[in-house]
Amino acid sequence: MPTKYSPRRDDENAVFIDCFLCRQPFRFGDGIYDGKHVRGWETNFCWTCINGNHDGIVLEYHPSLVSHLKERGIPIRLNARGWLDIPN
Ligand SMILES: [Zn+2]
Repeated sequence: MPTKYSPRRDDENAVFIDCFLCRQPFRFGDGIYDGKHVRGWETNFCWTCINGNHDGIVLEYHPSLVSHLKERGIPIRLNARGWLDIPN
């Protein structure tokens, strides 16, 4: 019997983490990275949210991010539009 590709086994190896903004789990590990970890903020964002906020995050829509950053003493520096850029 030839070895068949098994999506089930692949799923068992999958690593998921939650996006801080949309709270949806995304693949992050085992070679598949559907988002990124922002070390300076101790947060994870999926590409959908990163792309949707490429001009900066509108903090009024994400008060949990404000408290998250404040709790950690991370300075909030708004860009020219008054939004918060996601660090690289
Ligand atoms: Zn997201």
